[in-house]
This record gives sequence, C-alpha cells and structure tokens, in this order.
Amino acid sequence: MQITCPFCGSSHYRSKTIDWRLNSILICCNCELGFDERHREVDYENELTLPLDEKTLAKYYRFAQRSTGMLNAALESTARDQQMPFNILEIGPGYGFMSELLTKKIEVKNYYHLELNQMLAKRLERQGKTVIRSLDAIDRVDMVILGHVLEHIGDAKALLDNLISSKLAPGGYLILFQTNHAGFIPRYLPMLWYGWQVVQHHYHFTPRVFEKYCHVNQQASIVSVNMYSLDLEASFSIKGLVKIFLKVVNLIIPENHYDAFIIILQKAVR
Ligand SMILES: [Zn+2]
Repeated sequence: MQITCPFCGSSHYRSKTIDWRLNSILICCNCELGFDERHREVDYENELTLPLDEKTLAKYYRFAQRSTGMLNAALESTARDQQMPFNILEIGPGYGFMSELLTKKIEVKNYYHLELNQMLAKRLERQGKTVIRSLDAIDRVDMVILGHVLEHIGDAKALLDNLISSKLAPGGYLILFQTNHAGFIPRYLPMLWYGWQVVQHHYHFTPRVFEKYCHVNQQASIVSVNMYSLDLEASFSIKGLVKIFLKVVNLIIPENHYDAFIIILQKAVR
C-alpha cells in the first residue's frame, strides 16, 4: 500500500535516521511533517505512576513559567485588541502549571482543562480547577492551547479540523507549542536530540506543516510564529554534559534554527 502524508496527503517523502538504534522516520517533501507507520499504544488514561516528587514538579513549573512568558509575549503582539475576558480550553494541561500562571496574567472567564489521565485529572480537580473529559462537554471558546500535545495524538489532523471548525469562536486563537525537527540540532545532530521520543510521538512538526495546513484548511491563518530552544537542564552526568554542549550550540545558532516554536493560528471571523 502506498504511504501518504497524514497531513497533506502527498506521497513524496524521504527517510531520516534519528537515533543510535537506527530508528527512522519519514519526512513529507511537501509539508515537512515527520511521521512513521509504527503502531503505538501508550495508555495515557491509566498511566498512574507519573512523577510527583518536588524536584520534578519544580522542573515542570520552571518549564511552564518559561512557556507562559513566551505565550504572553506572543499574545501581547497578536491579541492586544481582543475583548477580554477569554474562555480558554487547554488540552493536556498535565499538572496545571500553565493555567495557574496564565490566569494571573490575563483575565479569564472559564479555563477548561481537558485531561485524559485519570490521576492528573483528579489532581487538577482537587486544586479546584475545571476539568472536562471530552470536547463535547463545552461550547466554543476564544482560545485553545496545546503545549507539546499534538504529537501524541494519532489523528492529530482530525483534532485540528474539529477544534477549528467546532470549538473555536470566530476570531479565536489556537496556540500550539511544538518541537521543530528542522532546527539545527535535530537536523545536524539528530542522535543527540531529545525531541524525537518515537515511542510516544506520532508526528514531528516544523512551522511549514501549519502553513500548508492553513493553506488547505482555509478556516484559519497563522498570526505569529516564535522560535525557542527546548529546555535543556544540565546535570553532572554524561547526559548532562551532552545537554551543556547542546545548550552552547543553541546559544550560537541563529534563532530560526531553534528546535521548538509557538505558533498562533487565528480562526477567520466570517
Ligand atoms: Zn505532508
């Protein structure tokens, strides 16, 4: 059977080796989506052994602080004249740090957390947050946030189509935090890149995937793309040394070669 790109349908692709075990992915020559035909079965709902130790949570909190700061800056330049307060939906909020930080910065009417993991959903509820288990539970919102979530979803394109057509209000924003496989490190030092995570990630993105997507979808357009480098916390180990090396690489390469990005899509007003 002929393999086609799950996002744009093109049958032109190349193969790229990504790690020491010679795992490879396909990269679409039309939209740049990275994908493969592996069967994945990660049970996100029932995974009940997620880390809750202080050190790990502090690390996630720092990551959320950084992400929220970047999101705020991006929103200030794109959504400044939007009417507040917003209704926000975050898909895969995990520990809920981003909603905690974001609601301190902007006026939010309702902040819905769509969290499939039972343990995390219960934890969010105990913190008094509004948790939903399905998209059907809510009407349209002004902003949908997916922070490093889309690559975990098998039918990611169907989810994007659904969010834009049925869940976003006209003029609403879809905010995606993604890794960028066209960045310097994944492109030239792929064996050292943390971002592949092939057991969990169905897809690997670049901003171009979304440019092509919007071009075909016609219901939304890109209003901003901000590049950044993946968080690389160093430690005294071989892994830590590799991270320090990658950090130095990140410092000297131009910003457009960074290995992650935030992209904001806006739904057409009509
Ligand atoms: Zn494609």
